[in-house]
Amino acid sequence: MQYTEKLSFIIYPLISWYQEHKRPLPWRDDPTPYHVWISEIMLQQTRIEAVIPYYHRFLTELPDVKALSKVDDDKLMKLWEGLGYYSRARNLKKAAIQIMTEHGGDLPEEASDLRKLSGIGDYTAGAIASISFGKPEPAVDGNVLRVITRVLGCFDDIMLPATKKMISEELRAVYPKGEDAKNLTQAIMELGESLCIPNGEPKCEACPLRKHCTASLEDITDKLPVKTPKKARKIEKRTVLLLSCRGKYAICKRPETGLLAKLWEYPNLDGHADEEDVASWFHRKGITPISIRPIGEAVHIFTHIEWHMQGFAAECAEETSEFSWYTAEEIRTQFAIPTAFRFFTKQLE
Ligand code: SF4
Repeated sequence: MQYTEKLSFIIYPLISWYQEHKRPLPWRDDPTPYHVWISEIMLQQTRIEAVIPYYHRFLTELPDVKALSKVDDDKLMKLWEGLGYYSRARNLKKAAIQIMTEHGGDLPEEASDLRKLSGIGDYTAGAIASISFGKPEPAVDGNVLRVITRVLGCFDDIMLPATKKMISEELRAVYPKGEDAKNLTQAIMELGESLCIPNGEPKCEACPLRKHCTASLEDITDKLPVKTPKKARKIEKRTVLLLSCRGKYAICKRPETGLLAKLWEYPNLDGHADEEDVASWFHRKGITPISIRPIGEAVHIFTHIEWHMQGFAAECAEETSEFSWYTAEEIRTQFAIPTAFRFFTKQLE
């Protein structure tokens, strides 16, 4: 059986199942293009449960495209603090400005126009176009690739762009319009999150697709999807310094580009420095430490890099102008310090 024909059999069982089993989620209650857009960007790399409070807070502060296009950068970063991948938030604001200037404040309906907006790729464009506008556009991510390659019994490597393109085209060929498109996109996502799960055995006995699913019928769910392993993450060692002076702590801004660009951080050095290295760093910076003590270690995992950090706390005789100095309360409430430094933020008095 051709892929297209096989896929045409799963559409209505999936939609009926979804209507009965969908979980109540805040963006499902009122799926405006703005709501779907914000939720889909937040959900990239982040679990649904973790996103919900961020989503509510974000919409309370920035209820529409206009408010997002005008938000102060520091406020935006504060709203995003803890979600990670801060370029997603910067792209949201850039795209909001594009929507205001090029589309009169309304998100465009066509996936091809949505894709021209900052930070919106094929997946997000497909999600907004189908869920909000009922366009016959699939939204293909890792969850969808897993479900569909299992249904089709397709052994193509889902890490390859060619596989994603092929699956997108096969789905687009059978995609319905209107309400069915709205439901189908969410149905595949929901199935991939609740039954055809990424880690652990799929729950085929409860799945509406089991009679059509090659992987289940042939008992090869453990062999699909085919996925080449990712390269091992690079490990970077860092030494983080909590410099304090009369109740204030030193923070500084990261470079304009690269990892965690333009966010605030605590002063830090490459490598795992010992107390002698730290003392010589102070000397080079012209800082006089009154005391230095180790405060422990932390690991933070990014997509391609792991930071293995150790920290020292140092009381300084004077504030130096190279850093900005604030109280612990001010740092916690006014600045977006990346989650990577959470361990050290907790050490502030
Ligand atoms: S039958 Fe099993 S393997 Fe097939 S889509 Fe459903 S949960 Fe996944």
